[in-house]
Amino acid sequence: MKKLLVSAIGLSLLSGTCLMAQPKKTAAAKSSIDQKVDALIAKMTLEEKVGQMTEVTSDVVSKTNSPSHQIDAEKLKEAIMKYHVGSILNVTGTAYTRQHWFDVITEIQGVAAKDRLKIPVIYGIDAIHGVTYTTGSTLFPHEIALAATFNRSIAHNLGEITAYETRASYIPWNYSPVLDLGKSALWPRIYETMGEDPYLIKTLGAEVIKGYQGNDIGDKYHVAACMKHYLGYGFPMNGKDRTPSWIPDRYMREYFLPPFAEAVKAGARTLMINSGEINGVPIHASKYMLTDVLRGELHFDGIAVTDWRDIQYLNTRHHVAATQKDAVMIAVNAGVDMSMVPYDYTFFTYLVELVKEKKVTMARVNEAVHRILKVKYELGLFERPVGNPDDYPKFGSEEFRMASVQAANEAITLLKNNNNILPLKKGLKVLVTGPTANTMRSLDGGWSYTWQGDQSDKFAADKNTILEAIQQKIGKDNVAYQPGAAFDSLLNVSETVKAAKNSDVIVLCLGELSYTENVGNIDDLNLPIAQIQLATELAKTGKPVILVLAEGRPRIVTDADKLSNATVMAYLPGNEGGDAIASVLFGDVNPSGKLPITYPRYANALVNYNRKNLENGNSDDSHGYNPLYEFGHGLSYTTFAYDNLHISKPTLNANETLTNTVDVKNTGQVEGKESVLLFISQLYASIAPDTKRLRAFDKISLKPGETKTVAFKITAKDLAFVNDVSKTVTEAGEFKIQLGSQTQSFNYVSNLDLPSRTGKL
Ligand code: BGC
Repeated sequence: MKKLLVSAIGLSLLSGTCLMAQPKKTAAAKSSIDQKVDALIAKMTLEEKVGQMTEVTSDVVSKTNSPSHQIDAEKLKEAIMKYHVGSILNVTGTAYTRQHWFDVITEIQGVAAKDRLKIPVIYGIDAIHGVTYTTGSTLFPHEIALAATFNRSIAHNLGEITAYETRASYIPWNYSPVLDLGKSALWPRIYETMGEDPYLIKTLGAEVIKGYQGNDIGDKYHVAACMKHYLGYGFPMNGKDRTPSWIPDRYMREYFLPPFAEAVKAGARTLMINSGEINGVPIHASKYMLTDVLRGELHFDGIAVTDWRDIQYLNTRHHVAATQKDAVMIAVNAGVDMSMVPYDYTFFTYLVELVKEKKVTMARVNEAVHRILKVKYELGLFERPVGNPDDYPKFGSEEFRMASVQAANEAITLLKNNNNILPLKKGLKVLVTGPTANTMRSLDGGWSYTWQGDQSDKFAADKNTILEAIQQKIGKDNVAYQPGAAFDSLLNVSETVKAAKNSDVIVLCLGELSYTENVGNIDDLNLPIAQIQLATELAKTGKPVILVLAEGRPRIVTDADKLSNATVMAYLPGNEGGDAIASVLFGDVNPSGKLPITYPRYANALVNYNRKNLENGNSDDSHGYNPLYEFGHGLSYTTFAYDNLHISKPTLNANETLTNTVDVKNTGQVEGKESVLLFISQLYASIAPDTKRLRAFDKISLKPGETKTVAFKITAKDLAFVNDVSKTVTEAGEFKIQLGSQTQSFNYVSNLDLPSRTGKL
């Protein structure tokens, strides 16, 4: 087990003013950076080069038996002056103040400035939903909740604000966004993903990256993004973190690669490699993935950093290298630029030897070092290794908080609302109960203040849990609270039932406690039985039950959902999540989230929405697809009617564009937002086509009675798939478009070979 880390607009995002737009770096400016890098490399010794490729944790340069994260001057000197380490990764303790960060980074860069070539260190951190390791920062919902908003500008703002606050913590490199597909419901990192659909991930992922990086990662408000985990993480066969996957090349290209290809196009400057093995090949050892596809096809020219200890694991976990030294040789020759070692200097020692033995070429080392130094120059680290404390007046500001509020508000997904029981009237007597009712840990999840998110009640004490938010919303006198159950055991059930009998309505908060990575592995997707028992006992009172789910992955809640009058999915909505839930429950916010994942009904029936085969009424053809709630499902307090789906022509040729329009009308009584999702199905193709695929979406806001016409443009490229010889093609045939309740068919008439699913798409 590892670490506990830190980390971590000028954009007046909400007022729409842009404080920090900078001219885009010109091609000439870029090539001048290349020249500077070449000149520097020419002066470097082999050891200095290999040092740049070495990343160690902050523990390695910190005091051993002192409060965490205190730099040990001798160890730091050794790291930089002896091993010339190019990068330090944050892994200690807990969240710190900006001042602490200033001191730590100043000390590190101060030593780097004394080394012969004065190359600044690049410090990296997991600021994956806001700058998670700086006290007072703006914590957003996790990516799974972000995806539920289906809102590009929210994704962009999250990126901008996080970048601002990460730089305000003097850190220039963010290991985010996660672009993995959340395909396996058991996987403990589902909440770090943007769900199961490649189009949704690639669209919002690119927005987050543009927010992180702005037009110039060298300005003081932006950071280098790190798309991760390339490639094929997120679909472990047994659902456990970092366990083997089987993914054919065709599927890799069809589903897993497009978000990374799009991220390269969006300019992502760094990438982290998947710790897992696919088809028996650890990605860290795959020249095909790390060089042929990543460089040759995607044309990515940034840094490829390993994940945690993954070169060492080629020897000890995957057994594809007989020795640690072989592991270094295999990984570097496959295309790794930087090793997150993370605790020692073995990588350094072995790589120096391997170059001397000509088992790794100097050209390969130079290539890796060039990429690393280039990003350091682009980040402005040579001129401004630390940053100026006074430059960040908006850190933790109300303006930023409101962006997180908006994200949480738009994420909350109303799954069921029998007889329009929601929104609740504010005069009701409410019992709030359940294990997620009164802890920030179930709202912030992992990667919050600590690696496991286990200190959120302390660090986010000024934020509202669900209980506190409801008390604030309707007055303490109207709210009773009983825990009822812990996460996996019953507590005071009889008092809770008694309190339920004295209330008008029960808000039952179920779900998960925070966890991160392997610590969150589970053997059973069912929500622990105690939570379902609590639901059963409460339902027996006959009082209406509003089920609120705060969880990082779709735990099976079918029995509780059967008993509820309404069900609300909150995901991990972050620091403003308690208030967002209360606002939805009491009607101050009209919910507009939609599921970015399939919510399964049974633990052993896990099928993603884009399953094979169009159902024709024969149960065999459903392939086990019978979810509790479908991908894209989400209700509102108003109703939307779709009408007049129009396609501009019945047949589409290569190089033509089809325009689809649909009228969406708010037919209810209140204003609401609707994510309009365009699905397309190909009826017959040379390989079994997916039932349907999300190909476009837009989010609109409608007043009662208002109608808007939403238009989408479709070209042959949007209809393409990867065929059985891994070629991207659009095949002639009949297609069906679905927009809300409306469907239309059209024919695509010419066969077309497209560039493979790479950066060109
Ligand atoms: C995780 C990465 C993370 C890295 C650094 C790894 O264990 O898989 O997502 O960026 O640690 O903290």
